Amino acid sequence: MENLVLYRKYRPKTFNEVMGQDHVVRTLTNALSLNKVAHAYLFCGPRGTGKTTVARLLAKSVNCENRKGSEPCNKCAACTEINEGRAMDLIEIDAASNRGIDEIRELREGIKFAPAKLKYKVFIIDEVHMLTKEAFNALLKTLEEPPAHAIFILATTETHKVPQTIISRCQRFDFHKLTLNKIVERLKGIASAEGVKIDKGALELIALNADGAARDAESLLGQVMAMEDKNITLVEAQTILGATDIGAVMEVAGFLIKKDAKSALGFINKLVEDGYELGQFAKSLINYLRKMMILASWKQDGEMEKIRQLIAPELTDEQFKIILEQGQKLSSGDFIKLLRLFIRAENETKFSSLPQLPLELAVVEWAGETK
Ligand SMILES: [Zn+2]
Repeated sequence: MENLVLYRKYRPKTFNEVMGQDHVVRTLTNALSLNKVAHAYLFCGPRGTGKTTVARLLAKSVNCENRKGSEPCNKCAACTEINEGRAMDLIEIDAASNRGIDEIRELREGIKFAPAKLKYKVFIIDEVHMLTKEAFNALLKTLEEPPAHAIFILATTETHKVPQTIISRCQRFDFHKLTLNKIVERLKGIASAEGVKIDKGALELIALNADGAARDAESLLGQVMAMEDKNITLVEAQTILGATDIGAVMEVAGFLIKKDAKSALGFINKLVEDGYELGQFAKSLINYLRKMMILASWKQDGEMEKIRQLIAPELTDEQFKIILEQGQKLSSGDFIKLLRLFIRAENETKFSSLPQLPLELAVVEWAGETK
């Protein structure tokens, strides 16, 4: 993903600045305060949720020469080296591009030696699930008897692909997607630090498109800010991101529920006129209907907040109320029919010379015979 400038510039330099992973931060800062840092950690969770950021913070804090409680000072030689990315004792391996046993073997050789400058040698292995079986075996041997001066932080987006033998040697932390509000809050801070005014709706649209990943949100914000406008509106953000706002999706869903083909068709054609990319709109609509279906099937259960966090953390309270209300008006048969119709339409949109036609057909077929 391009446009990582903002992401790098505003990467948290202390645990206090890390957003939305309170459970992880609390446990790690406690361990640091008590000087009880483990030798192996496993950070699990979706991309862009701060795993490597927290890994680097941990590397910095354990090595900081003037650590206050749990926070790194960001001033001493160790902190400076790490912040500037030139610490020899912080070794980052991207397993997605270095799958081989050679790297791990080298790591096993290198680990015998004491750190060159810092207190601890810290190994961060990103996307650790990509390692080959041989590499995992070599890593396991190292984790079985880690030297006192070494700390391993393994990160993965696909925990189920990490062997149980490795998982059981690590202290495990699960990183979660960020809620819409948290992302908006963060983007707002960055925009104001950059001297740019952005509508709340535009920030929400960016956050929505980032699907819970702070890194993606900041990259999208960078794209929007790249047009050097000091006052960015929702419509401008929509144009740049080629995206559909949730309001439009909700409105069309409302027409579909009422089987109001006329309004739905009119709305779709207005989207075309406004320059929306209809493939993206269809995707958003399908995703919205899917969430509605899942939430509708959970409506009897008391664990609504949990499922909300899981599948629709990006919706505001107001939007969440609407999706629940809309979902109650459809049967499971309705959901199946609607989703099948629009999945087909989304596919056909790519090949149609009139991009709106497949969507229009889906609307008419859903609404049924009206004559
Ligand atoms: Zn320091």
